[in-house]
Amino acid sequence: MTSLDDLPIRDDLRGREPYGAPQLDVPCALNTNENPYPPSERLVKALGEAVMDVAGTLNRYPDRDAAALRDDLAAFLNADTPGAGLSGRRVWAANGSNEIIQQILQAFGGAGRTALGFEPSYSMHPIITRVSGTRWVDASRDADFGLDPARAVAAVREHRPDVVFLTSPNNPTGTALPLEAIEAVLRAAPGMVVVDEAYAEFRRAGTPSALTLLERHPRLIVTRTMSKAFAMAGTRLGYLAAHPAVVDALLLVRLPYHLSAVTQAVARTALAHGEELLGGVEALRGERDRTVAWLRGLGLRVADSDANFVLFGTFPDRRAVWEGMLARGVLIREVGPPEWLRVSVGTPAEMAAFRAALSAALTDPQALEESS
Ligand SMILES: *Cc1c(COP(=O)(O)O)cnc(C)c1O
Repeated sequence: MTSLDDLPIRDDLRGREPYGAPQLDVPCALNTNENPYPPSERLVKALGEAVMDVAGTLNRYPDRDAAALRDDLAAFLNADTPGAGLSGRRVWAANGSNEIIQQILQAFGGAGRTALGFEPSYSMHPIITRVSGTRWVDASRDADFGLDPARAVAAVREHRPDVVFLTSPNNPTGTALPLEAIEAVLRAAPGMVVVDEAYAEFRRAGTPSALTLLERHPRLIVTRTMSKAFAMAGTRLGYLAAHPAVVDALLLVRLPYHLSAVTQAVARTALAHGEELLGGVEALRGERDRTVAWLRGLGLRVADSDANFVLFGTFPDRRAVWEGMLARGVLIREVGPPEWLRVSVGTPAEMAAFRAALSAALTDPQALEESS
C-alpha cells in the first residue's frame, strides 16, 4: 500500500493540508461567499446557446489570448469604476482569480523570492505562494483589521518582498483599505503589489477601487473575479487589470490555451447579462448591513464589512458554535482569527435561518452539546 508519505513528493509539500472549505450537503450553505442567486431561466438559455455555438468548433484550440473576452472585461471595469480607462491589452483572464494569483507568482515569485501579506487575510495567498516555491512572510493587520499605512510601509521596508498582497475588501474580515494605504505600499515596495479585489462590487458607496491607481503605478496589479458578485463561481473566471508589460510577463508563464472555448463563451455571455447578474448585489448589501446590525444587537463583536460576508465573534469555543449551527442545517465558516466566525450573506430566507440557528446555538448550550 502506497501512501502520500511513500512518494518522492517535494520536501516542502510534506505534511501540508489541501485547501478545504467543507463541501457539505446542507439546507443553508453560507460558507464560501457565493452569490445565492442562480442565473435566471432567460440567462440559462443564453448560456446554453453560447455553449452550442462553440460546441461545433471544439476540435480547434480556443483563442489563446482570449482577446474578445478581455475587451468585454475591460468594458465592464470601465463601467464599474469611472476613470479606470482600461483596454483589453491591460486585462488578463484565467480560470478563477486563484489561477491569476498563481500566474503572478510564477512570473514574479519563485525560488529565492519572497511574498508578503497582512493577516488575517485570504488563505490561498500563502498556499499558492508556497506551492510556487516562493517564501511567505506574514505581517499583521491592526486590531480592527485595518492597515495603518506607516506599519504597512515598515513591514515592506523590513522584508523587501518581491510581491505584496493587499486584499480589499479583505477576506475574511470584510474590511476595505483606503487608497492612501495602498499608495504608501506602492511607493515603498521594491516589487509587484497585488490588490485582490474579489469583493469589489459589494463595497459601500464612497469606498474606492485601486483600479484608479493603475495609470500612475506600473507595478500595481488589481485582481477581480466573476465568482462572487457576478454569481458565476462555477464558471471559474478570474481576471486582472495592470500595465500591458505585466500582461506580457504573464504570457511567459501561462499554459497555452489555458481558458477553454466553453469558459470564454460562457463568461462573455454572462458579461453581456451583467446587469441581471449584478442585480442581486444591492439586496445582498442591504442584507449584509442588517446582519451586521443584528449581530451587534446581540452584543457580539462584528467587523465592518464592504463584502458579502460578515466576521463576528468572539467565542472562546468557536468550534462548538460552528457545530451547533451545522446541526441546525446552517453551514458557516470557521476561519480567520481564533474565536471569530464568518457567515456569507445569503437570501433573506437563508439569513433568517442563520439568525434562528445562531440564537439557538448561543442560548442553548445543552442542546448544542447533544447535537454535536
Ligand atoms: C473567493 C476569493 C478569490 C477567488 O476566487 P476564484 O473563484 O478563484 O476567482 C480570490 N481572492 C479572494 C480574497 C477571495 O475571497
